[in-house]
Amino acid sequence: MLRLPGFRVASPTTIAEAVAALAEPGARPIAGGTDLLPNLKHRLGAPTVLVQLSRLPLRHVELRDGALCVGAGVVLADLAEHPLVRTHAPSLARAAGLVAGPTLRNLGTLGGNLHLDTRCRYVNQTPLWREALGGCLKSHGDRCHVVPGGQTCVAALSSDCAPVLVALDATLTLHGPAGARTVALADYYRADGTAHTGRAAGELATEIRVPLAPGPRRETYVKWTVRKSIDFPLISIAMRFDLADDAIAAPIVGARVVVGALAATPKAVRKLEPVRGRRLDDPATADAIAALVAAQCKPLPNLPYDADYRRAVLPVHVRRGIAALVAAEASHG
Ligand SMILES: Cc1cc2nc3c(=O)[nH]c(=O)nc-3n(C[C@H](O)[C@H](O)[C@H](O)COP(=O)(O)OP(=O)(O)OC[C@H]3O[C@@H](n4cnc5c(N)ncnc54)[C@H](O)[C@@H]3O)c2cc1C
Ligand code: SF4
Repeated sequence: MLRLPGFRVASPTTIAEAVAALAEPGARPIAGGTDLLPNLKHRLGAPTVLVQLSRLPLRHVELRDGALCVGAGVVLADLAEHPLVRTHAPSLARAAGLVAGPTLRNLGTLGGNLHLDTRCRYVNQTPLWREALGGCLKSHGDRCHVVPGGQTCVAALSSDCAPVLVALDATLTLHGPAGARTVALADYYRADGTAHTGRAAGELATEIRVPLAPGPRRETYVKWTVRKSIDFPLISIAMRFDLADDAIAAPIVGARVVVGALAATPKAVRKLEPVRGRRLDDPATADAIAALVAAQCKPLPNLPYDADYRRAVLPVHVRRGIAALVAAEASHG
């Protein structure tokens, strides 16, 4: 049996109290605990105090100032079912509904999902296992087993919601000792699996804002896992298409494709400009996007599945995701 290390728990009821509690050296926020507690059982981190966020007023979902505003404490099960989320950010509702399984979605929060620790087959193991291998850059060692000779940890961000929110141009508001600040999620993640977010010491995330679409839009999230019930993504792709009018056959006026579960940051696919003016229901469009994804995204042997296979099927899932968007429209007449 894996045991938790010793720590104290603080239970603030206001954001100001939470910020004060997080000022203590070694303090760490905990929301649902569905990622943090298993990691602590593996001795990935040793906080002195866990600052519990569950009593904070961070569970709102509302439309405000042209954006869908979601409190960081909203649990994934509620996010997946909320009518405002399903209407204004259906790919976010879909991603939240695909995280883990129902019990974890009842506890896990959006804030925790965006701050999920990075994962790697060489570090999400018991301390004995890791030490037998001599550790690694993320665990008391000086080498990387995924990229031999690599100087930076490429453990993967396996959050289902992060790529979707980057694709939707979402922002994140954080409160900390220096007050509140808002950052674009696209700029929040760093290419270092040992410290992959821009969260400053003592900060906690409070709200996620998704700008409302300025016009007709289609969006989706594709997740592939071996077991359908509870796995982290092995392939994940968020896609957003802004259209000239509200028909699936309308010309595309803007496209955003973001791939997750590669390394420590969601990867925004570049050079999508040629897709503008094309139609989603033209298979050549999906082929062009799949080719760009395949050229720019190379799954690494950091997750517990064959990297060559993941590379090979990544463009397949892009095409399937777009085909499903088109087919859903056809089935609704
Ligand atoms: C078996 C299993 C399967 C899983 N499958 C998936 C999956 O398929 N997809 C997926 O995305 N996740 C998966 N998870 C991970 C996890 O359940 C979810 O990501 C969940 O959303 C984490 O939220 P939480 O509130 O439980 O976070 P916690 O565990 O409480 O926290 C996670 C991290 O976020 C930090 N944190 C929490 N809230 C805040 C905040 N407001 N501001 C700043 N930092 C914060 C914590 O300090 C910690 O570092 C799985 C976990 C398990 C155990
Ligand atoms: S990517 Fe390399 S450094 Fe990072 S956790 Fe995996 S083995 Fe360790």
